[in-house]
Amino acid sequence: MPAITNHMPTAELQRLDAAHHMHPFTHGNGLSAKGARVITRADGVWLNDSEGARILDAMAGLWCVNIGYGRHELAEAAERQMRELPYYNTFFQTTHVPAIALAARLAELAPGDLNHVFYAGSGSEANDTNIRIVRQYWAEKGKPSKRKIISRKNAYHGSTMGGASLGGMAGMHAQGGLPIPDIHYIDQPNWWAEGGEMTPEAFGLERARQLEAMINELGEENVAAFIAEPVQGAGGVIVAPDSYWPEVQRICDKYEILFIADEVICGFGRTGRWFGSETLGLRPDIMTIAKGLSSGYQPIGGSLLSDEVAAVISGHEFNHGYTYSGHPVACAVALENLRILDEEKIVERVAEDTGPYLREKWEALADHPLVGEAKIVGMMASLALTPDKSARAAFASSAGTVGFVCRDRCFANNLIMRHVGDRMIISPPLVISRDEIDILIERAWKSLDQCLQDLHEKGLFKAA
Ligand SMILES: *Cc1c(COP(=O)(O)O)cnc(C)c1O
Repeated sequence: MPAITNHMPTAELQRLDAAHHMHPFTHGNGLSAKGARVITRADGVWLNDSEGARILDAMAGLWCVNIGYGRHELAEAAERQMRELPYYNTFFQTTHVPAIALAARLAELAPGDLNHVFYAGSGSEANDTNIRIVRQYWAEKGKPSKRKIISRKNAYHGSTMGGASLGGMAGMHAQGGLPIPDIHYIDQPNWWAEGGEMTPEAFGLERARQLEAMINELGEENVAAFIAEPVQGAGGVIVAPDSYWPEVQRICDKYEILFIADEVICGFGRTGRWFGSETLGLRPDIMTIAKGLSSGYQPIGGSLLSDEVAAVISGHEFNHGYTYSGHPVACAVALENLRILDEEKIVERVAEDTGPYLREKWEALADHPLVGEAKIVGMMASLALTPDKSARAAFASSAGTVGFVCRDRCFANNLIMRHVGDRMIISPPLVISRDEIDILIERAWKSLDQCLQDLHEKGLFKAA
């Protein structure tokens, strides 16, 4: 039985795709007019498309293929599990070995006393679960008024009604009647774009203290939780100034609120530790996990809860769950993924070898005339494109115009590097080798050079 593969000419696949397949976060007619690139297979950090191109995937799919493509061990784990027990639920006083084994393994890996997992099918679902959990937690503790959740502008927490509401993406809120009530937003710690004349340190403190000001404005008795990504991913790989997180943690400790670290991207080695909270010194009460948990080979997410939160939630029936909570095949694949990450010392490699190597090369990109700051934590990194470095100026064109030009050049050079507005971002598979990092950087330089030329030709190299 062959895989469902490229059995038609590319143009025909593109025609059928345009006719019947609606893409996420896409202007449908715009894509239909030019045709989607058809990806047919992948191994390691490399994608193949239907025209035979070999593309370096510096985004690890969507931040998720941490162990790289083509690991047959995960396919075999899935096959074994499908033959043994392809599905059973965990609602009706039943359980199964994959869900148990993965839960126990996650409790070992997670920092502090985050010893309990509530499974979901994705990061968005897990964040929906978190909304229910933090509100139910305070209700059980006799403080039902604590319902409000504080998040950050330009945060990404998923695309369900709850996840998109927790997120601070204006474009998402503009569609479908979002956000849901009782979510409040403070500003992001994006010094490059918003720091003005302040030093990064002073700016980091100022942004952290917005959390305290918001708690006081809403009333501590009304606030359930604060949610944040250790490093904002989809927002543009925004790395907070060093002063930011210690101050946020101090505030979370001082006030009676729960702290949710959304580790969907930062978890499972992305930052050079198992969890971003370890890299940044955070002590969350709840962690959202997904993506790298299974390296994207199966859809699975979850909420990791502290002993205290789990004990309170477990005191009564919790009227919540998903058909695929703890799906046995997804759990078996995630377990195999965690085994490989651990036994092949992939997280240590990011911390000690390939991470520092990428850092050196990435930070050198700041010498390019188009690049303002070059930021990197572990294996997630960003470039702020600018027409004037010293002024940290934005482009005169609407945000994203220049980023899109650069992204198109990367695409044409067989490098998947994304843009968020006018920031370029990468998040490669954690197994990327030094030689592959060299290729990544070479293609990035070339694409930046070509982009700069395009901007001059189009009259776009202009400050706002
Ligand atoms: C991707 C992402 C999510 C949503 O996960 P899905 O699996 O796409 O639902 C939530 N939080 C963060 C930080 C993410 O990057």
